[in-house]
Amino acid sequence: MRTSQYLLSTQKETPADAEVISHQLMLRSGMIRKVASGLYNYLPTGLRVLNKVANIVREEMNRAGAIEILMPVVQPADLWEESGRWEEYGPELLRIKDRHHRDFVLGPTHEEVVTALVRNEVSSYKQLPLNVYQIQTKFRDEVRPRFGIMRGREFTMKDAYSFHLSQECLQTTYDKMYAAYCRIFERIGLDFRPVIADTGSIGGSASHEFHVLADSGEDDIAFSNASDYAANVEMAEALAITQPAEAEAELTKVATPEQRTISDVSTFLNIPVEKTVKTLIVYGVTDEDGNTPLVALVLRGDHTLNEIKAEKHPLVGTPFAMADETVVEAQLGCNFGSIGPVGLAIPVIADRSAATIPNFVCGANENDVHLTGVNWSRDVSEFTEFDLRNVEAGDKSPDGQGTLEIKRGIEVGHIFQLGDKYSKAMNCGVLSETGKHETLTMGCYGIGVSRIMAATIEQNHDKYGIKWPDAIAPFKVAIIPMNMHKSHRIKEVAEQLYDDLLAQGVEVLFDDRKERPGVMFNDMELVGVPHAIVIGERNLDNNEVEYKNRRTGEKSMLSIDNLVDFLT
Ligand code: ATP
Ligand code: MG
Ligand code: MG
Ligand code: MG
Repeated sequence: MRTSQYLLSTQKETPADAEVISHQLMLRSGMIRKVASGLYNYLPTGLRVLNKVANIVREEMNRAGAIEILMPVVQPADLWEESGRWEEYGPELLRIKDRHHRDFVLGPTHEEVVTALVRNEVSSYKQLPLNVYQIQTKFRDEVRPRFGIMRGREFTMKDAYSFHLSQECLQTTYDKMYAAYCRIFERIGLDFRPVIADTGSIGGSASHEFHVLADSGEDDIAFSNASDYAANVEMAEALAITQPAEAEAELTKVATPEQRTISDVSTFLNIPVEKTVKTLIVYGVTDEDGNTPLVALVLRGDHTLNEIKAEKHPLVGTPFAMADETVVEAQLGCNFGSIGPVGLAIPVIADRSAATIPNFVCGANENDVHLTGVNWSRDVSEFTEFDLRNVEAGDKSPDGQGTLEIKRGIEVGHIFQLGDKYSKAMNCGVLSETGKHETLTMGCYGIGVSRIMAATIEQNHDKYGIKWPDAIAPFKVAIIPMNMHKSHRIKEVAEQLYDDLLAQGVEVLFDDRKERPGVMFNDMELVGVPHAIVIGERNLDNNEVEYKNRRTGEKSMLSIDNLVDFLT
């Protein structure tokens, strides 16, 4: 590519409204331009990087056995009614009508469409397992779009969905996706960590997020200093397990245990169903004698009442005896040791600002039934180790090993075991080997393709601009001829090198503008081309050019004869 025929669009000034460095550099280096809040044009340089990221993701998905498909951005409301999310999904879901006044949504995610697809295409166990993915535009009407494409309203996601007959089979694919995600982020060269994640409103049981560590990240990640334990604080928050010996705290339901629906709860607490509140899940753990001496609190962060209702937490609605201890242990990242069957999980809505917190509202082990006026025999904060405050650095790690460190992370990927949330609601099943109709078990796996670009810049920049890793750089080599328009010799060498590199399939940006060398250097550093060749009159006398590595800062003289070999 010749800069004279390209849309380089670099800017000197730091844009005033760009808070984080990646946003500033993407604007200054001519990668993106804002169209409206959360909506961006990709200029050619930005698009080159986006495509690079997408291709790495695609290669690793294919390698892991996933099959590429493409689903529409616009989705009919019918499907969302089937899954129940037409009601449940909050204002992030953009709803539109067509000319016949039929309802549609702009897809924020594709569970409904893919479940309907598989329901129609797959009828026998012989076609399973199946893992399909797409790289597609998503729309989420984010309450606070910010940091450029880091949190856009329209963005590019890779989303994969897998279908299975058994939990073991799902686990195998989940593990493959986990490994594929690690390879993707390694290939891009990111400093990332997989962490235990909250399953949020999408529901399901096991879940991991992949975070790029950066101070500008919007999530807090808790790391143990003595083990591999790492969790999104959303998940690890207020995670409290008391040891059996010290566990006299008893869950007592006093006051006025009335049965209420979620809308009663809303009226009772005077909280609109759309309003975000702090929520807790309380795990009561019964011992052999049937007592409930052990209580674990998990602060689930901010949820709306609607989301809480929507949440198919594996334990919500599960009677005491049926709850699976290992599921709870996995959720909490802890080990209950010798303690017997696990009790029910209760979403609790409470006012966190109150010193003591009376009158909890608990979800009972029945759908849509909530107990109001529930109290504890002791002050909650006394029997919780990580009580109702946020998890802090220095807290004991929930796995019992070491203490926690908190770092900021950017969520670039998220994998979930969905279970049968969608397949059951949408009747997606197959005939099993024994001829029985069986509902499928699902997993879903997302990567923020566009967000990765921003996250990569957060970790790879200096005061001059972006330092792209080779894997996703918009160009591999920059040719910077000094005063080419005055020197035949320089022009000749530059043109020859450009042709030779193109012939070798190297992506090269040839700065053939009539600009001062300083302007060219600055632009190439800002854009972050990893390898630069500077062609100057004096070095040509020795048949040499100067090589500069953008990432290491290393400079060296190279013989013109070996150039192409060196760069390929
Ligand atoms: P966040 O917590 O940042 O809002 P999320 O948990 O809502 O993200 P998921 O539903 O898990 O997002 O979607 C999968 C991936 O899509 C995320 O891990 C993230 O990388 C990306 N993503 C989500 N929302 C956005 C957005 N608004 N802009 C860019 N990328 C996004
Ligand atoms: Mg979100
Ligand atoms: Mg998230
Ligand atoms: Mg997520």
